[in-house]
Formats: sequence, C-alpha cells, structure tokens
Amino acid sequence: MLHGERHRTDRIGWLRAAVLGANDGIVSTASLVVGVAAAGGGVREVMVAGAAGLVAGAMSMAAGEYVSVSSQSDTERADLERERHELATDAAAELQELVGIYIKRGLDPALARQVAEQLTAKDALAAHARDELGIHAALAARPVQAALASAAMFSVGALLPLAMAWLAPSGRVVPMVSVTALVFLAVLGGLAAGAGGAPAFRGAARVTLWGALAMGLTAAVGSLFGVQA
Ligand SMILES: [Zn+2]
Repeated sequence: MLHGERHRTDRIGWLRAAVLGANDGIVSTASLVVGVAAAGGGVREVMVAGAAGLVAGAMSMAAGEYVSVSSQSDTERADLERERHELATDAAAELQELVGIYIKRGLDPALARQVAEQLTAKDALAAHARDELGIHAALAARPVQAALASAAMFSVGALLPLAMAWLAPSGRVVPMVSVTALVFLAVLGGLAAGAGGAPAFRGAARVTLWGALAMGLTAAVGSLFGVQA
C-alpha cells in the first residue's frame, strides 16, 4: 500500500453501508409518497406522510445499526477479555499459538518464533487480537458512528423523493416521484457496483427493479384506498 495503490476493500465497508442507507431512504419514502398520492392525498398529506416516513425510517435504521454494531462490539470486547486472561494465565501456550499462526501463514518455524516473540514483547494483546481474533483497531465496531451514518444516509436518500413531491405540479406527483426515484436508484446502484469493481449496469438494474416493484405495489394499494374513499 506504501507505493500508493488503493485497494477497493478499504472503502467497501462504509460505502456499502452508505449506499444501502440511501437506497432504503429513496425506496421507502418514494413508495410512501406515491402510495399517499395514488390514494388521492393532496400536497399537504403527501409531505406530512413523507416527512414522517423520513424520521421514522432514519430512527429505525439508527436503532437497528446501533443494536447490531453494539452486539458486535460486545462480542469483540468479550473476546479481548478472554484473550487477556489467557495471556495472563498461560503465556507460553499463547506464544506457541501465535507461532503456529505465523507458520500457517507461510513463515518458516524459526522466523515465526522470532516474529511471535518480538510482537509479544511489544504488545501481546494487540498481536493476538489482530492475528488470532482478526480484531483490528481501525475496524473496531463503533455503534454510535454507525448509527449516525446510516440515519444520515437514509435521510439524504429520503429527501430526494420528498423534494420531488414538493416540486411536482399538482396531479403529477406519482409519475414525477417514481421516475426520479428510479433514476436516483440507478445512479446509486451503478456507483456502488462500480466502486466495488462489479459491473455498474448490473448493480443499477438490481436496485432499480426492486425500487420499481416497491413503488408499483404501494401505488396499487394507494389507488385501491383512493377508489374506496
Ligand atoms: Zn491467543
């Protein structure tokens, strides 16, 4: 990495979470807006429903992310505690374990022992966390950041169809929000796929198809309610 090449894996994690959050925001809010408009709701009803959907969706994304990342962080902390205990009670076995890990990675036994001894002398817990448990300080679970990031991305996604609903000429909310939402989804899907090294077209087609399905269904349900009103 020192010679300046950047690996895609560096940015995949947060990019995928960001795009998924924005996709959710677009699909769920656009579907909500299209459903209310198809049921005959005026601009005020559409905006109230859309704004409520934005807040509810952002909060549920944040809650879901916070809970899942917190449990990951709990697991990491418990693993580190156990490792700390094992290092304190049986350092020789732990050193042997580290030597075994480096031999498995391709080092010859003498060099593996040398590396294990030096890393253990420097910071035994850090060496075991990284090489035995796969816990890297840079990738450590951060529940609050994860929750805020996904809520923010959901809100950004949700604001797009909401803005379109606000700008649409009256009676044109359904087509305007649907078409622009599909364009946003296609762009996001293509960007995410491209950034991950996958074919952009397939990524775009995948999210657009699901978006169209979601909006089509809610529009149908909405118009059903509209007919009955
Ligand atoms: Zn260990």
